[in-house]
Amino acid sequence: MLIFNNKADLISHLSTYKNNKSTIGFVPTMGALHKGHLSLLEKSFQENIITVISIFVNPTQFNNQEDLKKYPRTLEADVEKIKTVSDAIIVFAPSVDEMYDGNTESAHFSFDGLEYQMEGSHRPGHFDGVGTIVKKLFEIVKPTNAYFGEKDFQQLQIVKKLVQKTGMPINIVGCPISREENGLAMSSRNGRLTDEEKNKAAFIYKTLKEAREKFVNESIEAVKKYVYDAFSTHPEFKMDYFEIAAEDDLVPANTKDNKEYRGFIAVFLSNVRLIDNISLN
Ligand code: AMP
Repeated sequence: MLIFNNKADLISHLSTYKNNKSTIGFVPTMGALHKGHLSLLEKSFQENIITVISIFVNPTQFNNQEDLKKYPRTLEADVEKIKTVSDAIIVFAPSVDEMYDGNTESAHFSFDGLEYQMEGSHRPGHFDGVGTIVKKLFEIVKPTNAYFGEKDFQQLQIVKKLVQKTGMPINIVGCPISREENGLAMSSRNGRLTDEEKNKAAFIYKTLKEAREKFVNESIEAVKKYVYDAFSTHPEFKMDYFEIAAEDDLVPANTKDNKEYRGFIAVFLSNVRLIDNISLN
């Protein structure tokens, strides 16, 4: 299995494939891999001649230094999991210096307003950090197709906007959310929850599914009230936000139009911030 830490070596290796016009699939991650990440890898592996996965905990997208410090780093175990998909997958695991060259700063992006909503307003600077690292990685890997999870739906829309605005010829593929049996969306942060907390966290998806049912006949205001009331009876959670927004502009909606809507939630459980979302149409 090929593991690169150095971007020049990876670029040189990939250039041989590019000359053959092979398609390159790319799955950017921050590691601590779980089945959600592997589902993206499997899709890329099926749809492309070569697949590259990056494993890089990107400091500029963390607005909370404690969260960055605690983020799990498990490269050896990650490599073993990647091998279960295929040992032909190429791993790129650079250092912070390799990616940022001593200047760990974000560039500033306009994503036509997508960046101001939800995760954008609750995590200042987050999407500038995401835009910075995704652009750097795309310039190195130059993929044909890049795979992103709907788990981070706002990020998926922002990456589509990044590609559109920069004119990079990359097809962005959205992939469905992988869940635990109890419905909890898989996340590297779930490793910080005890088994009991993971059981409690099933309440998040259960409530989102109830919101979807209510959305058929009830107003947006009533659905939002239902969700906030449900969480207020479970004091172990601290609500960050629940919003209903159209998928295209992500602006929190008050009235229903002829659009595709999603419910978006961020809650804290024992100081671990969990996000999830659900299609409401
Ligand atoms: P991360 O390592 O958390 O930055 O995630 C890397 C990629 O995996 C992103 O595109 C995520 O949206 C995606 N991802 C994370 N968790 C899941 C999940 N439960 N289901 C599907 N995709 C996921």
